[in-house]
Amino acid sequence: MYPKLIIDMKKLESNIDACAKITRDDGGCSMMIVTKCLCADRVVCEMIAKHPKVDFLADSRVENIKKYSDLMAPYGKQSVLLRLPMMCEIEDLVKHVDISQNSEMATIRAIAEEAKKQGKTHRIILMVDLGDLREGMFYQDEIKILEAAAEIEAMDGVELYGMGTNLTCYGAIIPKNDNLSILCDIAGKVEAKIGRKLELISGGNSSSIYLIWKNDMPEKISNLRLGESFLLGNDTAYGETDPGTCHDAVLVEAQIIELKDKPSLPIGEVGKDAFGNVPEYEDRGIISRAILGIGKQDTEVDGMIPLDERIEVLGGSSDHMILDMTKCKGDYKVGDTVKFRLEYGALLKASTSAYVEKEYI
Ligand SMILES: *Cc1c(COP(=O)(O)O)cnc(C)c1O
Repeated sequence: MYPKLIIDMKKLESNIDACAKITRDDGGCSMMIVTKCLCADRVVCEMIAKHPKVDFLADSRVENIKKYSDLMAPYGKQSVLLRLPMMCEIEDLVKHVDISQNSEMATIRAIAEEAKKQGKTHRIILMVDLGDLREGMFYQDEIKILEAAAEIEAMDGVELYGMGTNLTCYGAIIPKNDNLSILCDIAGKVEAKIGRKLELISGGNSSSIYLIWKNDMPEKISNLRLGESFLLGNDTAYGETDPGTCHDAVLVEAQIIELKDKPSLPIGEVGKDAFGNVPEYEDRGIISRAILGIGKQDTEVDGMIPLDERIEVLGGSSDHMILDMTKCKGDYKVGDTVKFRLEYGALLKASTSAYVEKEYI
């Protein structure tokens, strides 16, 4: 059935190998592989859990981690919740997740209470905001960070496992030696205060890995959390390709449901499209237009790149995608399929859509 995601397990595994070579072998960092962009797909997560160079599996949602929490102990891995826990999910968090990223003492206290109830110790990564302005204790409030660390250290039920930061998400701030050094500096002061070394200092996501091959990663950073780099091979700081990775480990394939010669300009008064936008069109005369059975309910039409370079994406609506196939006229017919590489948003949406099938090759 179409549309479907085609997941090439060998290529994904080889992307993890390439990321591990950079992160672990060259960078001396442990590696969290982030599973949210494939909606914690069980088949892929089993492969990741078995991979000898992966240390942690991380996801933003407890529901996703639940799907693979049984694989952690057998393969010697730990699970990590990336999004700050909601108060309403703390029971599940403690039950199913080993480590979580946190920035609020009220939440950490509630986790500690729940963990004591369940007879467990939950590990905490204390997040520091270096200016991207999403999660984390603000780096300028150093005294508050030190107090928080000391309080966590003194609590039963939780263990201060490490510190971390997240960049290039909300504020699109690029990780550099200077901003990550601030995290290292604060972590050093925390270690002095609690009198022991932290297990890990997590230096960010796929936008941080470039610092290793540019030889500019601060020494003290000891962990990276990688999603887009192992899935799509993208260095998300400057848009380069992570050395040794490929961009086509995951593809989308969709089927042609109409293929006709029609004008490139709609005819009549232009109002708003199905999503309330006023569209603009380029007059290319009569073109060969294909409609595919895939749309914005399934993926992000603008984030799809046809493998056949002669094809151009014109746009889409909820259930349709429209292509200009003039340059490959005659090579396709109704019922044929078209394959696409994906950008991050398109992959995220396709893997969470109930309408998109998965095929593993
Ligand atoms: C999603 C996420 C990641 C992974 O991001 P990529 O850019 O896909 O590597 C890492 N950390 C946090 C906190 C996240 O939410």
